[in-house]
Amino acid sequence: MIADNLVIGGMAAFSTVDYPQHLAATLFLQGCPWRCHYCHNPHLIPLQTADEKITWQQVRQHLEGRQGLLDAVVFSGGEPTIQKPLLAALRHTRAMGFRNGLHTGAPHLDLLRPLLPWLDWVGLDIKAMPSDYAAVTTRRHSGPQSWAAIEQLQKADVDFECRMTWHGELHSAEQVVEVGECLADRGVRRFAVQVARSDQMLNAQIGAGYISLAAKQTVILALDSIFECLELRG
Ligand code: SF4
Repeated sequence: MIADNLVIGGMAAFSTVDYPQHLAATLFLQGCPWRCHYCHNPHLIPLQTADEKITWQQVRQHLEGRQGLLDAVVFSGGEPTIQKPLLAALRHTRAMGFRNGLHTGAPHLDLLRPLLPWLDWVGLDIKAMPSDYAAVTTRRHSGPQSWAAIEQLQKADVDFECRMTWHGELHSAEQVVEVGECLADRGVRRFAVQVARSDQMLNAQIGAGYISLAAKQTVILALDSIFECLELRG
């Protein structure tokens, strides 16, 4: 499958936040098998774009003009691993001298595995404890593969962080702490907890999910000492 077939819904030409400590261009790929209540990018869920898509040729031109200025390309989504042309795109950007970053929830390990040799860094979304996934993704059996991706990344020696989106109606502080403790037990060293953005959500019925300062402090106090890096974002 060639990179020209990649369905790209958007591009951030220059990002300082999508790949830690690196300047990156970020591509938002279409398509996702899950339907998270708090999804902030519902327009990326369908495999096809509603608007005119960005072509791989346009991306290449952008990157060619920024060699030496940008360090990395981040493939985000949506869920980028479900697009078969992603492998060809990763090879291409690596050959151009860029580091490759990936944002994924890892819904299918078979799709993630072939990509690992071409990845320099991964932001792995962990939605909840494996048994609680469906309450977030609204898809049954979505948790085990996602958690199993941790071991795959460790075996492949790919640098990564785990990140969790925290919505007050979906997770208590104690549930976030439980996720963090289980990640640390599995050898995860960096964990970022991101407060869900409430300005645009797939399911507006769940409300803003307000999280109190006390709840945030509970999480920080419980987890700060067990990670090399713990961030609470938002
Ligand atoms: S938030 Fe959930 S539904 Fe939205 S793109 Fe990410 S994994 Fe898919």
